[in-house]
Amino acid sequence: MASFFKNSIGVLCRNYPLVVSLKFERLRSSSAVFPQGMHKGKVAIVTAATSGIGLAIARRLAKEGANVVISSRKQENVTRALAELKSEGLNISGCVCHVGNEEHQDLLVNMTLEQHGAIDILVSNAAVNPFVGKIVDCSKEMWQKIFDVNVTASFLLAKHVVPHMEKRGGGSIVLVSSTAGYHPIPTIGPYSVSKTALLGLTRTLALELGPMNIRVNCMAPGLTRTRFSTILQQSPRLNRMLTENLPIARIGLPEECAGAVNFLCSSDASFITGETIVVAGGGYSRL
Ligand code: NAP
Repeated sequence: MASFFKNSIGVLCRNYPLVVSLKFERLRSSSAVFPQGMHKGKVAIVTAATSGIGLAIARRLAKEGANVVISSRKQENVTRALAELKSEGLNISGCVCHVGNEEHQDLLVNMTLEQHGAIDILVSNAAVNPFVGKIVDCSKEMWQKIFDVNVTASFLLAKHVVPHMEKRGGGSIVLVSSTAGYHPIPTIGPYSVSKTALLGLTRTLALELGPMNIRVNCMAPGLTRTRFSTILQQSPRLNRMLTENLPIARIGLPEECAGAVNFLCSSDASFITGETIVVAGGGYSRL
């Protein structure tokens, strides 16, 4: 019976991707805020939260009652995302923060503390992928840039927020990696290595911060429908290569990643730390 349902859902998703997308579109545009939500009274910072997966995470945490502070590099994107989320009745504020810039990180953390007096949740979601080619052809500068944004920023943000979480008696940090961190995607080697590093950072931080009641987990998306993955989505060959052998043979939706992050930040995950949830349609992901 279970396999019948599994197969039926797989067939539904394969044959009616639009229906599945519309279902989530309705979820996304629903203006319902849950006043007794699981994050009521919590304060959350989400980086790179003005589009795609970060925006969906910010929306989901806010719908569950959190005061969410969003950020990204461009003021116009922050302004647009703030207007969109506020129009849904959500408790949102935000500022510009290029995560590779330590002054911007200070501003983000200070603004959150000024406005809300505390930090309970950090979702470190920003990443860049400016290099395509063989890893041996990647310049040192390019490698550094990828690691500054994709890895070092998460380490520094964690350093910033930990003392404030400690004051609250605990907290939750979620890093956003990728299935590329498990299985490198050819031509984006440096990005893939940076995402593998986040798996290690998650486990190491979890070990060190567990005694402070700060949980550190990771969410690793597979191919997800956002601007970031447009090139992969538009190439029928790559699209097929990345999805056709999945048990759920389709591209994921940002809201599906947001659901996993929401769970990891919640008290339902109170005994979970150092783990990575892979949101990738059942693709095999092991190091
Ligand atoms: P997206 O839709 O393209 O959104 C990227 C967001 O990041 C935007 O809000 C962008 O806004 C912001 N951003 C970019 N560089 C930044 C920086 N240096 N500092 C702060 N904000 C920055 O991307 P996405 O697909 O949601 O990706 C989110 C995360 O998921 C990334 O870590 C990515 O590696 C991971 N991921 C995505 C997929 C996928 O298939 N989509 C798969 C695996 C993993 P501004 O332009 O205003 O900065």
